[in-house]
Amino acid sequence: MAKFEGYKDIYVFVEQKNGEIANVGYELISEARKLVASIPHMNFEVVGVLLGEGIADKAQDVIAHGADKVIVVDHPLLKGYSTQFYADALTQVIETYKPDSLLTGATVLGRDLAPRVAARLNAGLTADATKIEMDPEKEDEALLLVTRPTFGGNLFGTIICPDTRPQMATIRPNVFSMDAPDPTRKGEVVMFEPKFQSTQPQVVVKEVIEKVVEGVDITKADILVAAGRGAEDCLDLVKAVAEELGGELAVSRAVVDDGYAEKDIQVGQTGKTVRPSLYIACGISGACQHVAGMEKSDMIIAINRDPQAEIFSIANMGFVGDVKEVLPLLKEEIIKAKA
Ligand code: FAD
Repeated sequence: MAKFEGYKDIYVFVEQKNGEIANVGYELISEARKLVASIPHMNFEVVGVLLGEGIADKAQDVIAHGADKVIVVDHPLLKGYSTQFYADALTQVIETYKPDSLLTGATVLGRDLAPRVAARLNAGLTADATKIEMDPEKEDEALLLVTRPTFGGNLFGTIICPDTRPQMATIRPNVFSMDAPDPTRKGEVVMFEPKFQSTQPQVVVKEVIEKVVEGVDITKADILVAAGRGAEDCLDLVKAVAEELGGELAVSRAVVDDGYAEKDIQVGQTGKTVRPSLYIACGISGACQHVAGMEKSDMIIAINRDPQAEIFSIANMGFVGDVKEVLPLLKEEIIKAKA
């Protein structure tokens, strides 16, 4: 008998808010497709789990993004996020369908929901992961190798859950790329009727006050020009280059710590994870905690006066020089190219 009889497929919790699906769900579906492709002999499918009210029509979007099947739990008690009702419903889906693994975004919601479900199921959970692979040495099972930063981000640890199923993980948004949707893709949609332990809410949400986001969301920018401590005294210049390129300003933690910028534009392990098509790092040393947040950018250009700076080891192109000399020249060239 197989070690985990009846457990099958990679499930992805597809987070939505007001019917709008968060990109991280699609990023995880794209990654799950690669994982199942790496173990063709297991015949695993990618299954999306969609919870909410009035969201059944979103199932086709989930299929278009790569799911073979979508389990929809459409219920008035799931209208807004509730730890109690979401944990009840997701636990029942897992108990009914027995996924081999379940991936969830390491969002505020995912970080709340996944550990509760894992505790109810007595399953192993790796939180805040940045990389997932299949163990190539295990041919008769789909053992996930889940990597996450540890010891303050100075090391990466790879965690396995060999004894229980499902193997659960929360994964940071923007770590994996999202494949383009194929609206003609076909898949199965299963409607699941949950039985809640109690329909009496333990917590009543009286009012939701949306956070007013000031400034830009750097995770959505296609071009980022980022300043490190070496450029914190010429942020206007860095910003001007960003504007000429139609991009946004980002910073390293040193710039935030030194009081030159707000944390919401900080890139890195304790800041945002970004993957723009162009990332220009100005006066940034390339510490691993910074790199963890931007290394997946399509093109990285580094400007640093120290030729030995770590940032050059991950840059596609580098300028050794003073940012105050290089940036004005760069700006001039951009203006010329645009003319
Ligand atoms: P520095 O390390 O001071 O480097 C400045 C660079 O600028 C140097 O390479 C120097 O050669 C160059 N330079 C100086 N002057 C010029 C000039 N005029 N022209 C050109 N180049 C110049 N950091 C983050 O960024 N994001 C995070 O999320 C983050 N999280 C962290 C979490 C933990 C738990 C810890 C311990 C640290 C974290 N850090 C983070 C901090 C990280 O370790 C580094 O200290 C930080 O990234 C350094 O920022 P920096 O490269 O801008 O500054």
